[in-house]
Amino acid sequence: MLKKCNFCGSFESRDNPLIAGQDGSVYICKNCIVTAYKILFGDEEKEESELTLDYLPTPKELKAILDEYVIGQEEAKKVFSVAVYNHYKRIFKQPEFESEDDTEIAKSNVLFIGPTGSGKTLMAQTMAKVLDVPLAISDATSLTEAGYVGEDVENILTRLYFAADEDIKKTERGIVFVDEIDKIARLGENRSITRDVSGEGVQQALLKIIEGSVVNISPKGGRKHPNQEFIPIDTSNILFICGGAFDGLNEIIKRRLGGNVLGFGQEKRSKKEEENLLRYVETEDLVHYGLIPELIGRLHMIATLNPLGREDMVRILTEPKNALVKQYKKLFAMDGVELTFEREALEAIADLAIKRRTGARGLRSIMEEIMVDIMFNLPEYKGYEVVITKDVVEKKSEPILIKKEQQSA
Ligand code: ADP
Repeated sequence: MLKKCNFCGSFESRDNPLIAGQDGSVYICKNCIVTAYKILFGDEEKEESELTLDYLPTPKELKAILDEYVIGQEEAKKVFSVAVYNHYKRIFKQPEFESEDDTEIAKSNVLFIGPTGSGKTLMAQTMAKVLDVPLAISDATSLTEAGYVGEDVENILTRLYFAADEDIKKTERGIVFVDEIDKIARLGENRSITRDVSGEGVQQALLKIIEGSVVNISPKGGRKHPNQEFIPIDTSNILFICGGAFDGLNEIIKRRLGGNVLGFGQEKRSKKEEENLLRYVETEDLVHYGLIPELIGRLHMIATLNPLGREDMVRILTEPKNALVKQYKKLFAMDGVELTFEREALEAIADLAIKRRTGARGLRSIMEEIMVDIMFNLPEYKGYEVVITKDVVEKKSEPILIKKEQQSA
């Protein structure tokens, strides 16, 4: 059933999301919250695009919001919530304390280490949405040093500027997510990467914008500054998040720790323990991997994400706010059809995703493959319950159809 605001009656939409009451039966929409805020605290318009600390949730609150969208990854969500909180606190609170002493709080940029499809981008996206700040996602492998074929590092900021609706102030408080940072590692002794340009130059270029400086961007296609060729963007308050899978990092950590440090002795380590090694990552491991120390030095907070297992995948399919199963159920309901997934079917989908090694990213395409034939016939199933069994997933069998008694055709 479509949810609507109990105050004004409007339906939930992207621009006007709903917040549920404690028992989930009442809702209030964003517009009504804003109106209520104005009634309580006055109608003064905030200065254009100023984000103030009034709006900054506590780390616990940030984590609670992440929990609604990101399954598992408890440690990473905690680290990230603290990093984000510190980052915006530094922007908004530091000026008040400036006169007290000269201590300057360094920016806490974040490094996400975790396999593909484990939720790195999702965490960044969720946070940007929650804080209502612009987000730009870039792939480190598409970046090059100026002068080479490819994208200049400055383009990341151009993208952020557009995500901020060409508002410079908003841009300067946004979030930049640079994915696949591990792929621009320096060529290591024992790892071979085939690329013509050394990643080191790109890392240096990235470092320059992460460090906090004024970077001139060229707003191609920009409307608001038609006569201005370059727009200066101060990056000192932009939160940078770098992410990567860092295949092989485990080995480096293991070598540093040696056999006995963790008390595993000579016994064979279980797979789980091997995965958990990432938690012991230190700067020197990353240097060894091929990141330049200066860049690591700017990524203070390191959050490691675990590979997702079957149970996580099943939860991802069913639990998050916009979970795939929920979406399909809604699509079916719009045609008067009830959709049910047997638990074993969900597990089979999870297993397929794990086999494809795409993390949770693979779930959508697997689901689409299964559902397309069924949806082709969907209008004919009106008045039925459609049950997806394990065989539908694994053998492309027909789903079970159950005629619904009460339904009038
Ligand atoms: P990556 O770690 O490669 O950045 P993403 O965050 O882009 O992976 O994940 C791809 C998709 O998989 C997300 O859009 C989301 O639908 C799903 N997903 C991945 N990890 C999680 C998770 N921990 N919880 C919920 N959904 C997830």
